[in-house]
Amino acid sequence: MFVFVCAGCGAELTVPLSQVSLPVHARQQYGNGAQLPVLMESGTFAVDPDPWGGPWRLWDEIDPGEAEARGIYAPVHALSDGTPGASVIAPGDIRGTRLIPEKRGGACCGLDGADGPNMACEACDLPVATRVDDCSLWQMVRLGSDVVHRVPVDGIHAVPLSWAELAEKGEKTPPFEPIATWGGRLGPNHYWSWSPQWEAAAGQALAHLLIASEGQPVKVPDGLTADVFQRTLDALLPAGTRERHAVLAGPGQPSPDAGVDILLVPVHPKTGWTWTPADPTTPAYLVPLPLGVWLWLVSPEPNLPVPASGRIAQDVLRDYPLPLLPNHLFRADRGTFQHTLVRLPAVRSPWLRTILENLTQSTSAGLF
Ligand SMILES: [Zn+2]
Ligand SMILES: [Zn+2]
Repeated sequence: MFVFVCAGCGAELTVPLSQVSLPVHARQQYGNGAQLPVLMESGTFAVDPDPWGGPWRLWDEIDPGEAEARGIYAPVHALSDGTPGASVIAPGDIRGTRLIPEKRGGACCGLDGADGPNMACEACDLPVATRVDDCSLWQMVRLGSDVVHRVPVDGIHAVPLSWAELAEKGEKTPPFEPIATWGGRLGPNHYWSWSPQWEAAAGQALAHLLIASEGQPVKVPDGLTADVFQRTLDALLPAGTRERHAVLAGPGQPSPDAGVDILLVPVHPKTGWTWTPADPTTPAYLVPLPLGVWLWLVSPEPNLPVPASGRIAQDVLRDYPLPLLPNHLFRADRGTFQHTLVRLPAVRSPWLRTILENLTQSTSAGLF
């Protein structure tokens, strides 16, 4: 385990934390005025390899060689010039800091971190972290890699769970959930929609599916997997002659048939490693899915009503009438899709560049 300390004065800035992999939805902007939960589980941190927030540089100002050196292979509107490698934690795990009110950014309901670090070390005033909790953003604190040090401390060293253990005990992420809105005139409220985590997961997976398609049509399994991917794949991929098949594969699942081109596989939530088939000669493309989403896709749970008695308080989620299902078809998260796709070298293919250039039209058409 680690404690983060201020690089200026050595004061402790966090409780002891253990490292996990950065959630796919870390950079997601979801809905309009939605109140998203805390990104990181308490007691954990993850390192974000990419810069966040300002200062920004427009694509025209960046030499393509420099962009490639930063792992970006297709044009984007602008690139963050912030310091990469921030450690992301739950806001409740921070210690010994104060907010810098002047750095509130373009905040709407909370703080968005657009003005750079908005939290200072209480002991020496060095700006050390950025709190993010505005509407439509996952709540987190980002500790700047150049202003904090990570110090190892004693603690339980938990061995990462095996794939078999994860398949059995891993937590599933339901595809629909109540989305909290920021308290309005009628107080806190919520509506049911597709899970933000699923939308981000699908954005990342879709970028990989396009690369894996090699420009041919792709067929994913029927059911929820098709609800999530098939419509968008059919719309984005050029008509082709050799359909490629994607299947769900992973711990506890039967070995995929020979001739399957694409495997939708889980990512280990602690190590960030992608599951790989026992037979490494399989030439299939591995498309990563967060474990919780993958677990639900391989074994969906029926809708289990929760018993309640007496009068139900106003803010309790009701099981009768049943919660409303999302009122629109599934849409992958555009930001996560683009963030992933521009970082895959195969995006240099002209047909994939065209998909990126037409992203606004695809969004208007309801694909994202
Ligand atoms: Zn300090
Ligand atoms: Zn807002």
